Amino acid sequence: MISRGSRLPVMWKRILTVSVLFGFCRLGALGVLRFESHSGAIVEITARSLRPGEMLLALFRPAEEGQEARLTFLRKSYDFHSGGPAGKRLALVGVDFLTEPGSYRVEVVFSDTSGRKETVQKYIRLHERSFSRRDIAMDPRLVTPPAELEERLARERTILAEVYRNAVPEWLGSGDFIAPLPDAPKLNFGEHRLYNGVPRSRHTGVDIPAEAGSPIRASNSGQVALAMDLYFSGRTVIINHGLSIFSVYCHCSRLEVRTGQSVARGEVIAAVGSTGRSTGPHLHWSVRARGARVDPYSLLCLGLE
Ligand SMILES: [Zn+2]
Repeated sequence: MISRGSRLPVMWKRILTVSVLFGFCRLGALGVLRFESHSGAIVEITARSLRPGEMLLALFRPAEEGQEARLTFLRKSYDFHSGGPAGKRLALVGVDFLTEPGSYRVEVVFSDTSGRKETVQKYIRLHERSFSRRDIAMDPRLVTPPAELEERLARERTILAEVYRNAVPEWLGSGDFIAPLPDAPKLNFGEHRLYNGVPRSRHTGVDIPAEAGSPIRASNSGQVALAMDLYFSGRTVIINHGLSIFSVYCHCSRLEVRTGQSVARGEVIAAVGSTGRSTGPHLHWSVRARGARVDPYSLLCLGLE
């Protein structure tokens, strides 16, 4: 959902975007926490910032052959998979945007081939994050869909649930995530949404206003888990990057990929449009990480390459 805002010339918008993203990158990839076993194996966690709605990257470097590590945080456990930089193994840890700020324990269990285990614990402090608020005037039929649509909506909910259940236990991405469009995003991740004055939902993605027809690029490599027209999100592409990380691209005018095919990072997957529940041409871009809803821009500078 967007309103056409600034009328900056395209070139200036691009320059602004590049500097904004560069700023994100300089802030990002902060060394946050380091866990070390007696044998010298290391797990290091980095992130753009430590707030609800951010993606954390954990990298594991074994000290000897056959060593394993397992990380537990916010009641989820993570194994490490090949695909990290410099031969390190990786885990991607999403912090859902509704997580309460506060101090949380992170536990890493190192194990070796002889079955010996060593547990290292540390605490991460999640800082407050403020979310914007927006009242949107909207066709009442789109806010509360008519009863005859219930069957279609139920079918679409089932399809989406199946897409997100398909956990590929390996990393399909290649290097760092990129923005799907060069245009400047709105800072509306997690926004409180009111439709015609009534609080309805939270905005779990980021809107990127762009010219209708602009090419949308895959943020990272993976498999197209869904490419179809949905009632709310319009023409939609979902890419499965493995490890239960999904990127979602909504309101497209045209889809350039089919369900099941592989895509490379940067490949054109769709064109910007205003299909579904939308008030103007833009891309609604979101990311899910094992069910956690995270700001997609927190993935851009993680240091995956
Ligand atoms: Zn949106």
